[in-house]
Amino acid sequence: MTIGIVGAGQLGRMLALAGYPLGQRFLFLDPSPDAPAGHVAPQICGAFTDAKLLARLARETDVLTFDWENISVEALRKLPKRTRISPPIDALAAAQDRVEEKKLFERLRIPTTRWQAVDSRAQLIKAVERIGLPGVLKTRRLGYDGKGQHVLRRMQDVEAAWDALGNAPLLYEELVPFDFEVSIIGARSVRGEVAVYPLNGNVHAGGILRLTRAPFGSVALQRAAARYLRRVLTHFRYTGILTIEFFVRRGRLIANEMAPRVHNSGHWTIEGAETSQFENHLRAILGLPLGATRARGHCAMINLIGEKPTAADLLAVEGLHLHDYGKAPRPGRKLGHLTLVERSAPLRDRRARRLLSRLAPELRIP
Ligand code: AMP
Repeated sequence: MTIGIVGAGQLGRMLALAGYPLGQRFLFLDPSPDAPAGHVAPQICGAFTDAKLLARLARETDVLTFDWENISVEALRKLPKRTRISPPIDALAAAQDRVEEKKLFERLRIPTTRWQAVDSRAQLIKAVERIGLPGVLKTRRLGYDGKGQHVLRRMQDVEAAWDALGNAPLLYEELVPFDFEVSIIGARSVRGEVAVYPLNGNVHAGGILRLTRAPFGSVALQRAAARYLRRVLTHFRYTGILTIEFFVRRGRLIANEMAPRVHNSGHWTIEGAETSQFENHLRAILGLPLGATRARGHCAMINLIGEKPTAADLLAVEGLHLHDYGKAPRPGRKLGHLTLVERSAPLRDRRARRLLSRLAPELRIP
């Protein structure tokens, strides 16, 4: 089979690398001539919204998927009816708009933050009065890695927040004083089979994921997160990998957002799980049996952001796995990641802390 992937970033690259042993072929669409997946697979160079190029991608492949959710739903809907698109376009549409996402969580009785849609300065003031301070103003669309967000702590912050973001549709929500953050990742195949990974414990810095540890958290938390994930999978008759991110406060999950794709917090599964999230995404969309999601040990995944030590330095650390995405360094850019798989959680935490004290000395790890 040939799999068409819209977006040729590192997620697409890791999908292709997981698919080659299964005998799959890939074709990517991405505007960047130097995209990470373009280094390992053929790529059509052009805009995600280009209807002609999307149609070509669909024509030359057996199934379409994506590695980035900010692509045009309208353009995908215009493709010929026979085009197989996984995950479903409706799930993609819900994940693209924070208001639709919140409504979905509420409809499926998945606890989420208190929120209100905001389209004017007056509405922002009303939302702040109703929901309270502190809170976060977020763009409804195109937000990722903490971009398009403004924290409000006092009523006087309304002006600065409105000036920063006021020219796009917005959402205001409470700022959750969370104890920690987790995410749950699972796959549903075109045959309806479901497989869920162990919970990920995530630490962000400046809105960008820095560290994931897995398995993480109590059995009760894992069960609750998996139950919520299954509700979304069933609702959309979903195919592929789905991720939901949660805040955890006093032992309770509060959904933050979902991603209809493989996720940064699941990169540890490449070396740390029986079957990686990338392979299971492909198995799911191709109608193959899903692979076991069991962890092979206690895993830590550390993102390399903005700059990276030399490969020689990193590979001198025993047992450390390096994934370099082949991207030019730029502040705030995800350039690669590191994975450790250890025999015990304390050993994993000790080793992850030691690495992070070199890579991100400012990070506080709970
Ligand atoms: P997002 O792009 O919405 O996933 O936000 C990125 C990160 O910003 C989250 O993982 C949190 O660390 C932080 N954040 C976003 N929204 C909130 C919120 N309502 N309360 C507390 N922290 C938040």
